Amino acid sequence: MNNQQINCECDIALQSLLSIDEALELLINSAKVTNSTQLLELDDALNKILAADVLADIFVPGFDNSAMDGYAINLKKEQINALGGGTFKITDRITAGSTGNALAPSFAARIFTGAPIPKGANTVVMQEECELVENGSKIEIYRSILLNENIRPMGNDIQSGDVILPKGRLLQPQDIALSASVGIGKLEVFNRIKVGIFFTGDELIELGNTLKQGQIFNSNRYFLVALLNKLDCKVINLGNIEDTFSATYKSLEKLKSSCDLIITTGGVSVGEEDHVKPAVEKLGKLDLWRIKIKPGKPFAFGKIDDCIFIGLPGNPVSAMVTFLLFARPFIKKMQGASNYLNTTFKVAANFDWHRSKPRCEFVRVRLDRATTPMQVNQYPKQGSDILSSMVWADGLVEIPEKTTFKQGEILNFYPLNEMML
Ligand code: AMP
Ligand code: MG
Repeated sequence: MNNQQINCECDIALQSLLSIDEALELLINSAKVTNSTQLLELDDALNKILAADVLADIFVPGFDNSAMDGYAINLKKEQINALGGGTFKITDRITAGSTGNALAPSFAARIFTGAPIPKGANTVVMQEECELVENGSKIEIYRSILLNENIRPMGNDIQSGDVILPKGRLLQPQDIALSASVGIGKLEVFNRIKVGIFFTGDELIELGNTLKQGQIFNSNRYFLVALLNKLDCKVINLGNIEDTFSATYKSLEKLKSSCDLIITTGGVSVGEEDHVKPAVEKLGKLDLWRIKIKPGKPFAFGKIDDCIFIGLPGNPVSAMVTFLLFARPFIKKMQGASNYLNTTFKVAANFDWHRSKPRCEFVRVRLDRATTPMQVNQYPKQGSDILSSMVWADGLVEIPEKTTFKQGEILNFYPLNEMML
C-alpha cells in the first residue's frame, strides 16, 4: 500500500503512515506527568507510583549480628584457623532483641539468629558444629575456625544515605517491606489520573438486555474499565452514547474539565456515522493517525483544553491491541512511572509467513515453553473481531511489514500477562 492509495481509501489528505515507533514516540512525547501527589501509609501504597526517591537514614542491620543459632567466640590470634578447632567456656546467652556482655578472649556466648554480636566476639560457629561438653558449660569444635564466620555486619543490606527506592517505581510488596525496614511508614506517591470513557455505536447494548437483530453487547466497555482499574486510574464511565454529533459533543464536554484523559472506542473512521472526529475538532484539536499496524484502524489522538483525547478503534481486538501498545505506555508515563514502555522477549515462530504485508502485524500466539528458544503457535483466526483469540493467546508477536519467513524465524513477543499488569 502506498500513501496515494491510502489518501483515496480514507480521504485523509496528505496524511502519511506512521510506523509504530513513530506513533509511540509522538504519543509519549506529549504525555505530561501528573504533578498531584499524596503521602500514603505503607499498607495503602501497593501498586502506586513513587513520586520521590526514598532515602534511608539508618543502617540495616543497625548492628553486627549473628546469621545462625550457635556460639559467638572471642578467638585469640593463635586460635584463628588453628588445626582441630578448640574448646571454649560459655559465659553468656544472647537472644535476639537482647544485648550480651563483652566476651573475654577464648570464651564463648550462646547466641541466636539476629542477636547482636557481643563486644570482643569475632566469629560465630553454628550450633550443629559445636558439641556441648562438661555438663554443657563448654563447647568443643573439631574443625579450624575462621574470623567473621556467620556474622552479618552492620549496614550489610542498607547504608544510611542510600536511595533504596527510586522515584517512578511501581510499588510492589517487596518495596513496601524495604521501606518498613528503614522505618519509613509513609510514601509520597502520584495521585490517580482521571480517565473519562464512553462508547460509540448504535449497535451496542448493555448487559442485561436482550439482543435484537443487528445489536451486539458492548464488550469494549469491560476490557477498558478492567484495564484502567488494573492501571489504577480513576474511571468516569458515561457508557454507550448515541451515534450522533450532539451526543458525542456533549459527552466530551462533560468529561473534559474533570478528566486528565478521555478514551473512546469506535467511530474514529471518517464515515458519516463516525462523529468523534468532528466533535473533538469542534472542542479542541484532533489528529487521526494512520499507523502501519494490524489490527488497528486509524488511531485518534487529540486535545481538548488540557485534557488528552485517545480514540481507539471499535473492533475489540484492534481496540485492545492499540490500547496495550499505545495508550498503556502513555497512561503509565502520565502516572509518573519510569518504566512505561512494554517489554518484549524473543521467540521462534512455529509457522511460515508467506504473504508480505504493508503493515506490521500483531499476531495472537501461544507459547510452547518446552522448546528452546520458546516457540509460538498462532490462533487460526486473526480477524480484529475475534475476541476469543485474545483469551486463547499468551501474547502477541510482532511481524514486521514487508516480510516473509519460514518456521523458526525469531520474533519479538509481547507477553499479555505483563501488559495486563
Ligand atoms: P467502528 O470503529 O465504530 O466502525 O466499529 C468497528 C466494529 O467494531 C464494528 O463491527 C462495531 O460493531 C464493533 N464495535 C464497536 N464498538 C464496540 C464495542 N464497544 N464492543 C464491541 N464491539 C464494538
Ligand atoms: Mg461505529
